[in-house]
Amino acid sequence: MMLPELRTRPGDKVAREVTVDAGVTLPVTVIHGEREGKTMLVTAGIHGGEYLGIRAATLLAATLTPRDVAGRVVVLHCCNPGAFFAHRAFVVPEDGKNLNAVFPGDPEGSLAERIAHVIATAFIPVADVHVDIHCGDIPETLVSHVYYSDSADPAVNEASREMALASGADYAVPARGMKGPSHVACQRGIPSVLIERGASGLWSEEEAQRYVRQLRGVLAHCGLIDPEEALPRPRVIAHAFSLTAPKSGCWLPRVEPGDYVGAGEELGTISDFFGNVLETVVAAHEGVVLYMTSSLSVNEGGPLITCGSGDRE
Ligand SMILES: [Zn+2]
Repeated sequence: MMLPELRTRPGDKVAREVTVDAGVTLPVTVIHGEREGKTMLVTAGIHGGEYLGIRAATLLAATLTPRDVAGRVVVLHCCNPGAFFAHRAFVVPEDGKNLNAVFPGDPEGSLAERIAHVIATAFIPVADVHVDIHCGDIPETLVSHVYYSDSADPAVNEASREMALASGADYAVPARGMKGPSHVACQRGIPSVLIERGASGLWSEEEAQRYVRQLRGVLAHCGLIDPEEALPRPRVIAHAFSLTAPKSGCWLPRVEPGDYVGAGEELGTISDFFGNVLETVVAAHEGVVLYMTSSLSVNEGGPLITCGSGDRE
């Protein structure tokens, strides 16, 4: 059930901070269309250092009017304001937990778990479709791609895939086990996609506008706004594989997101502070580099690089 302060009627547009916990408020905009249609929940800033996505959410919410919309668009602009203000990657600084990893949350848990619980119980249940906005966090860089569910009910998987194909991303990746709000949505029968673009927490107004075009592509596909010029169709990845850092040290990549690599090709080296090579990292399979660590530092066992192989179709 929608929080009382966010209950709207056709033609309403409400933008306000809602209290989700003692001392924690989340910025929310609801655009309630003049015409009937689906409810789309848009979540941004699950990782609060992903500024491009947060700016895109704000631009989307600011530019949609009830006249444009059939149904209802609910935008959660920044789900992790602690990280947003602290310039922290990946985690909720108050408890050190990755908000994306603690869904469906716990009303009695630490702050990340309580935020997840509110999103899972007060926002996701009102949605017919869901889009989670991410981007390259402060220490990572990536090529434009989108994840869709590949492990929920077949009808949910198919609807999620169609949303992904309408998103204008360069690559679409079937995810066998989505995390975060997308996991909760798909398990409840709500089609969901997770969109990625951008790098290193950086943002620009031009990039945010491009992100908004992608979001509008999904909105139009779901019938919430009038059809727009179709965006390029993503290439569908058959299998994504990730490498963790074999050693802690200085990561010197030889590839960039979007590069194609062959099996056995050198991806980069990890060296110590004196420049001695500790490890040479090679690709186990051929594929396109989807995302990788962009910072000089990597930690043993931590994320390093993910590639996607083979077109599925
Ligand atoms: Zn993220």
